[in-house]
Amino acid sequence: MLTSNLGYPRIGLKRDLKKVTEDHWAGKATMQELLAVGDTLRRANFEAQRSRGIELMPCGDFSYYDLALDTALMVGAVPKRFGWRPGDPVDLDLEFALARGAKGAQACEMTKWFDTNYHYLVPEIEGPFTLTQNRSLAEFQFFQRALGVKTKPVVLGPFTFIALARNASGRPAHELLRALTPVYAQMLGELDRAGVEWVQMDEPALVLEQPAAALAALLECYRDLAQAKGRVKLMLQTYFGGLADAWDTVMALPVEGVGLDFVRTEENLTDLRGRGFPRDKALGAGIVNGRNVWATDLPAALQRLEAIARHVPQERLWVQPSCSLLHLPINRSLEKELDPELKSVLAYADDRLDEVRTLAQGLGQGRAAIAEELAENQRVLRAWRSSPRHTDPLVQARLRDLKENDLKRQSSWAVRHERQAEALPLPPLPTTTIGSFPQTADVRRERDRWKRGASAEAEYKEFVRGKIRELITFQERVGLDVLVHGEFERADMVDYFAEQLQGMAFIQGWVQSYGSRYVRPPLIYGDVSRPRPMTVEWFSYTQGLTQKPVKGMLTGPLTMLKWSFARDDIPLEQVAYQLALSIRDEVSDLEAAGARIIQVDEPAFREGLPLKRRHWPDYLRWAVRAFGLASAGVRDETQIHTHMCYAEFNDIIEAIDAMDADAISIEDSRSAGKLLGAFERFKFERAVGPGVYDIHSPQVADKERMKAQLRAAARVIRPKLLWVNPDCGLKTRDWKETAPSLENMVATAQELRQEMNLVGS
Ligand code: GLN
Ligand code: ZN
Repeated sequence: MLTSNLGYPRIGLKRDLKKVTEDHWAGKATMQELLAVGDTLRRANFEAQRSRGIELMPCGDFSYYDLALDTALMVGAVPKRFGWRPGDPVDLDLEFALARGAKGAQACEMTKWFDTNYHYLVPEIEGPFTLTQNRSLAEFQFFQRALGVKTKPVVLGPFTFIALARNASGRPAHELLRALTPVYAQMLGELDRAGVEWVQMDEPALVLEQPAAALAALLECYRDLAQAKGRVKLMLQTYFGGLADAWDTVMALPVEGVGLDFVRTEENLTDLRGRGFPRDKALGAGIVNGRNVWATDLPAALQRLEAIARHVPQERLWVQPSCSLLHLPINRSLEKELDPELKSVLAYADDRLDEVRTLAQGLGQGRAAIAEELAENQRVLRAWRSSPRHTDPLVQARLRDLKENDLKRQSSWAVRHERQAEALPLPPLPTTTIGSFPQTADVRRERDRWKRGASAEAEYKEFVRGKIRELITFQERVGLDVLVHGEFERADMVDYFAEQLQGMAFIQGWVQSYGSRYVRPPLIYGDVSRPRPMTVEWFSYTQGLTQKPVKGMLTGPLTMLKWSFARDDIPLEQVAYQLALSIRDEVSDLEAAGARIIQVDEPAFREGLPLKRRHWPDYLRWAVRAFGLASAGVRDETQIHTHMCYAEFNDIIEAIDAMDADAISIEDSRSAGKLLGAFERFKFERAVGPGVYDIHSPQVADKERMKAQLRAAARVIRPKLLWVNPDCGLKTRDWKETAPSLENMVATAQELRQEMNLVGS
């Protein structure tokens, strides 16, 4: 039996990679300095894994930006706009150009890696493939030279590469895969000659539901690779779920190993029991969770591993994490301020490796050999589970006593719509923003000062009040109809609430979000409740400054859930309801404080969708219920808005409707009206604000463009139901384009009211 790892966080314990990379971009660090830090990190990462007893060490999991991008460069999938031609070198400058854009060439698109919060660069396929440089070989040789060891190159597999890429070639996917295969074959051949033993081919796309034709193409591809690869052995690595329908095809592939995720769902274990495992393959058993931070229940995991081992002899079994450890913070030693009891039940990347080694030892030598570890693990977990600190009988009782009616508004949308129009007269095509305004340097500086304890709370609050006053003056001058307070007090839309909720906590460990951007997702460790109002003070202050309606601004339960590390001892559905209850309390306090419009943002609503479509209905069921629980406790006259952005909504439009918000604002300025098609087909009857101002662009929003977009929208949505707003919050924008853009937006609405004869109606 072997212990193995799939990938280790690249960023360094002290965010080393971020610092040197950003310095390099700013011209403050040379390429040599950047590469030197990369070398140091690779060695340190190797040592961290080796010292924890990992035998099969990954290489090539390190990247200066992103692995999908590295792979694209390796196979020559470089969009023409970057001026690169086959035969030209590929280097880090080119990599950064693709990632960040370069003179006149727009950066490649970035999107979420499966259902994680990591973003990869979407490869674009235009022309033929060619092996530009064998990065796997270079990485393998780096460790061979530097440390005299043989590592296991990690490669993004050809099937998943094609599945994730944007196909601009006009050729069908199976043809692209056929064209790509020889490049991979050549790469593997070179690895063979260099003495590589195992290659880990990451093929997570196999846990998505794949049509039979795609699986046939997969089989053809791996048959060709088997012909060409020589003695190199392939571990076909899957993660983030079960193989399900792809099981038989994958097991029939001519590869020497298959890696399976035994943590995420029961599917793989069930299939292993039911169908057995081929005799010609090694099994990579993903047994500890690479996606969440809670310590593994070791006896339970060992039992699972023993169950797995009944189907594969130990000499063909690898014990490993469920996926790359990229998605975890690195080491708990940084958590100096965390409550010790909580810290004791966390497991970061390094802890996962300890767990792997312990479990492997337990399987190989029997439980007695790890008796101490098991006892300590059980002691800690038992203490945690029985600790009263994170269980809240009140929250549990409230959830038990919920009535179906609590999730529903009192009246139908149509009735509410009438009542709201009376209670809150607004012009047709009302104008508003999504919430945040430019977080200028002074805003960030004052917040930091206060957080560090360098300024008094009273002083900080006075600063924020000043900002709000300026913003109200600005919004009134521009002529917006529904105002906001600007969210200056929030560094982050999840953290701000997490900080104030019972049952959530902050960590110091960073996780890569993309490139040099890292995040610290908060923990949901216990029953969640809201001890006191979180936003009412700022709302009341703001509403007191103006006659116009001010929106209450909240983050919804599904977004809170998706952007945190959630507890896994109760179903996510229950965690979502607990978060929803807290938001519900806030909604009702805002209403009591005079808010006539309350916006509950759910930008991550769609991200929460399971990877397999057949699991969608269940998620959508409870997601809609959680949103209802958060928002439905208000009077008919109170208008609930929600906001979503940057995703495909067409296939969940019914669920969006079922959320039963009174109005919804959705990013639309880049999608060329795609969204409207869905509204048309579904006959969507609620107020809609299709974003008309592209907030990711530093350009001033153009009146004629916005008009055209709204005219198109008015053909699908009754003009009386249309709102006029930007795509998303303005937090990352500069005032110099924000002010004229919003002026144009308001003028657009005014002129269209005339044009459409809506004035006074
Ligand atoms: N209200 C938030 C803001 O304006 C919404 C952000 C988002 O959708 N991501 O910043
Ligand atoms: Zn948004």
